[in-house]
Amino acid sequence: MNSWLKDHEKQLKKLFTFLNENNAFYKTIFETQKIDLSAPIEEIFYRLPIITKKEVRQHYEDYISNMPVPTFSELTSGSTGIPVKCVKTNSERTKLGLNVWQQRARWDSEVSLENYIYLYDVSTYKKIGNILNFEIENMKVCFKKLLALKPRWISGPISSFERYAKCIEMGEIEYTPGIIKYLELFGEYATQEQRAYVERIFEAKTINHYGTIESWCFAYECPSGHLHVQNNLFFAEQLPTQNKLGESVGEIVLTSLFNKAMPLIRYNLQDLGEISDVACECGQTSQVIRLAGGRTGDIIKGTDDVLGELFFKRGIYKVIQNFGDCILGYHVDQMAVNTFVISIEKGKGYNSQAELILKNHIVRGLGKDVEVIFKYVDILKPLQSGKMKIFTSHVKDK
Ligand SMILES: [Zn+2]
Repeated sequence: MNSWLKDHEKQLKKLFTFLNENNAFYKTIFETQKIDLSAPIEEIFYRLPIITKKEVRQHYEDYISNMPVPTFSELTSGSTGIPVKCVKTNSERTKLGLNVWQQRARWDSEVSLENYIYLYDVSTYKKIGNILNFEIENMKVCFKKLLALKPRWISGPISSFERYAKCIEMGEIEYTPGIIKYLELFGEYATQEQRAYVERIFEAKTINHYGTIESWCFAYECPSGHLHVQNNLFFAEQLPTQNKLGESVGEIVLTSLFNKAMPLIRYNLQDLGEISDVACECGQTSQVIRLAGGRTGDIIKGTDDVLGELFFKRGIYKVIQNFGDCILGYHVDQMAVNTFVISIEKGKGYNSQAELILKNHIVRGLGKDVEVIFKYVDILKPLQSGKMKIFTSHVKDK
C-alpha cells in the first residue's frame, strides 16, 4: 500500500470528483474505464493512464477544465516540440508560489521579494535589460544594473551564471565576490563541475530548483543536498525506460494534488532520473529525486544510452582542460545518425586543436564512422526561457 496515496486519499478523491464534473477528458476516462470513484484510492489511481504532453496537445479542448475563474497561461518551452499552453488559476499560482518561498526560507531567513531576482522575469527585463544578450558591452551594462538592485538571491539557468562567471573571472565585468549569496538553478541540468565553478567565482551557494512550466516547482534541494519532492502538493513515480541507462533510472512522472484547471495526474515529464525514499538529515521525509541529466528525447540517435547534453559537455570539458576556458558557447546538431554539426562561439585562447579533441571524443564514444562538421558563430542565443540548449537531434525515430 502506497502511504502517500493513502495519506492524501481525501484530497485526491475530491480532485477526481471535481474532474468528473468539470473536465471532459477525465470524465471520459472514468466512464470508459468504468472507474468507481468510491473505490479505495489505489484501485482508482493505478488505473488512470500515464499522460504525456502529446496527449494534452491532442485533446487540448477537453483537457482544460471548465472553471468560472480567471486563469493564467504560459507556453511550455519549444525545445521539446510544439509548445503547449499551460493554464493555472490565480489560487493555484499563489499556492505554488508560497510553497517555493517556504523552501527558500529553509536556506536563508533573510530572503525576501525585495532581495530576490528571477533573471527571466518581464519585470527584471524592464529594470536591467536583456541579460540573455551575451554581447560583452550589453552584459556589462545589464550586470551593473543587476547589482544596483542589491540582489541576495538570483534565480536562473546555470548556463547564464557560467557565462557571467567567465566574464568576471577574466576581469571584463566587475563583481565583489560574496555580494550575491545564493544562485538558484532553474531550467537546466547542472553538473557538479558547473556548480563548483560558479560557486567559486560568485562566492555564492547554488541550489537546485526542479520545476516545469506545467507544474512550477516540483522538487527543491535541501541543505543536505537532496532534491525533495514537494510532497504536500505532489507525488512522483518512476517509469522504466526503453534505453539502457541502468535499471535504476527511469522517466519521472508527477501527480499534482491541486492543479485543477490543467490537471497533472500521472503526467510524464520525460526527464530521466531515479526516485528513492531517503531518511534525510534535514528532517524532510518526502521522496528524493536524482536527475540523470537529460530527457528521453536527448539520447543521441543510434545509441541506446548516450545522453547528448552530458556527452558533449564532457567533450568540451576536455578542451577546457587543455586550452583553458576558450569556448564561450556551443551547440551540437545531430543531422543524421553519424553526422554532427558543432557550432562554437570562440573565446580567448581558442585553439584549432580543439576540433581534434572533440572529434576524438565523439569517435571514441560513438564509433569510427562519424562525420563531425565545425561551424564558428558570433553569438549563440538561448531559448526564450533563458535555457541554453546544448544538443538537438534532427534524426526522426523510425
Ligand atoms: Zn533533505
